[in-house]
Amino acid sequence: RAHLGQAMERVAASQTTAMTDRASALREAGRDIISLSVGEPDFPTPSHIIAAAKAALDDGATRYTAVTGTSALKAAAALHFQRDLGIAAQPDAIIATAGGKQAIFEAFAATLSAGDEVIVPSPWWVSYPQMVRFMGASVVPLLTHPRDGFRFDAGELDGQIGPRTKWLVLNSPGNPTGAVYPAQMLRHIGEVLRSHPQVMVLSDDIYAPLNYTSGPHATLAAVCPDLAERVLTVSGVSKAYAMTGFRIGLATGPHWLVDAMGRLQSNTSGNPAAVSQAAAVAALEGPQDFLAEWREAFRERRDLVVRRINAIPGLSCPVPDGAFYAFVDAAPLMDRFGDDAALALHLLDNGVAIVPASAFGGRDGFRISFAASKEKLDEALSRVESALA
Ligand code: PLP
Repeated sequence: RAHLGQAMERVAASQTTAMTDRASALREAGRDIISLSVGEPDFPTPSHIIAAAKAALDDGATRYTAVTGTSALKAAAALHFQRDLGIAAQPDAIIATAGGKQAIFEAFAATLSAGDEVIVPSPWWVSYPQMVRFMGASVVPLLTHPRDGFRFDAGELDGQIGPRTKWLVLNSPGNPTGAVYPAQMLRHIGEVLRSHPQVMVLSDDIYAPLNYTSGPHATLAAVCPDLAERVLTVSGVSKAYAMTGFRIGLATGPHWLVDAMGRLQSNTSGNPAAVSQAAAVAALEGPQDFLAEWREAFRERRDLVVRRINAIPGLSCPVPDGAFYAFVDAAPLMDRFGDDAALALHLLDNGVAIVPASAFGGRDGFRISFAASKEKLDEALSRVESALA
């Protein structure tokens, strides 16, 4: 321990993973736990993707590839960025990484110095602030509220930008709130950014195919193409295609940044797994019709969760427009439980694993994942209801 570097003093283990591990341990000990703490779809990876992975192994996808991804994957990624996000990305401005996480880490590592600031809307995905702090930069929280659907507006952003602001993180659909930024809001954000040329935007669109609003998904680089040279758009196959274990992330942005990320990658992980790259090509270029079915299933589950949560005294949540999470306010129960960590343990004792809001820079509530069957969700919410009665 005495040998740990200084940067490690600023990094904590992911609390969502901690809750999931705790629930698994209880389950192994024989307890009946419904885990609604995980960030992955419960659907099996589609069989044509598995078949492509097996065929790729037989075809020799067992060796190093180009560090930033095969040309086949870059072509598939260019198709994805155009079709699903409206971004015309050249293959040489695309990098494939070991999950979306690695792309974000590399982007921060390539650009942040001690003293830099990164604006992160809160509640946030757990890893953004950890990565920023690891780099020696600081996090400037941009608080969002349930009454606004957990979206900040352009004026609030303007108030947080300073001379050291290096990045704004924009995550739509968002984890843990499900917030989706419509094109009009992105246009206003773009207007603010035009007067602050020092600010780059990390647009994390990894949940884009899980957007329940009508019309196409809107993303900053497409809505404000004049800003595209300052935007890194991060995507991947983990969430939309139920491929979390394959570890393929994709990012596109300015050449100088994508090149720097590739330079880091060439000296650290090297290429993402060859077999996973082949599977991702099959996912992105293969049939997309199952996505509409999954989206519909998620939408029904969301409606069930929101209806039941809002019927439980002391709990409330706005309707999430995307991803598979609802962010629940439990402030009226804090007199009884003290804090949200105690509430989370109480719910775990009653057979339901969720993640306390404080893990996401929020408070007095929890995140519930609806990546589970309706039957499971119904049973879990009955348990929550009786645990709080
Ligand atoms: N971004 C967000 C908002 C996420 O929720 C996740 C996964 O939890 C990721 C990025 C990273 O995904 P992966 O590294 O599994 O591709």
